[in-house]
Amino acid sequence: MPNKIKVMIIEDEDAISNFIATTLKANTYAPLVAKTASEALSMIPSHCPDLVLLDLGLPDMDGIEILKKIREWSSIPVIVVSARGEESDKVEALDLGADDYICKPFGTSELLARIRTALRHSAKNNNGTPASEVFSTKGLTIDFGKRQVTVDGKEVHLTQIEFKIVSLLAKSAGRVLTYDFIITELWGPYAVKDNQILRVNMANIRRKLEKNPAFPEYIFTEVGIGYRMSDEP
Ligand code: CA
Repeated sequence: MPNKIKVMIIEDEDAISNFIATTLKANTYAPLVAKTASEALSMIPSHCPDLVLLDLGLPDMDGIEILKKIREWSSIPVIVVSARGEESDKVEALDLGADDYICKPFGTSELLARIRTALRHSAKNNNGTPASEVFSTKGLTIDFGKRQVTVDGKEVHLTQIEFKIVSLLAKSAGRVLTYDFIITELWGPYAVKDNQILRVNMANIRRKLEKNPAFPEYIFTEVGIGYRMSDEP
């Protein structure tokens, strides 16, 4: 039997873990289920899952604490599965190294899409080759070396700061980067965490890149959290 991709589900509610496990099995993944944090933390090193789906509300430990523990020694992709609508929780999880988050209730196709994206990133990050010099998604191409951006073959002129924002998002395409993360990367750790300057820049970027800035194809807003660059080919 070929090695199936192992996905660990850390979830205390049987109905949800059963639903996820059934979905995963039907899509040729091998699910592993842990109902508590302590079970999960003992299973991860022995089973070496390829990806973790982490519920934040667990009986014995906050999911955020598990994430911190995993990140002390592993870069395994972690998708936070949260029932909390609280944006601060999602932001905290992403800043602590979660690869993505998904809110309950969610559909099968959304779950599978998030899993595929997270696995694709970890494959890219682990193959040891240097990051590509050129990024492209749909009609947008960014040449990092030449500092050149084109849309459908036509060059677009971005300011230096706009180019930095677009490049940062492109280098983590598919992942949500939080406002604080972007501000820290661009203006340093002591910069005022003022999202307004980012919003103004993003409005200008969208006006230059997107066919219809109100319905962006390239850079998506995760309301209250940050931005995500498309990673579709
Ligand atoms: Ca729970």
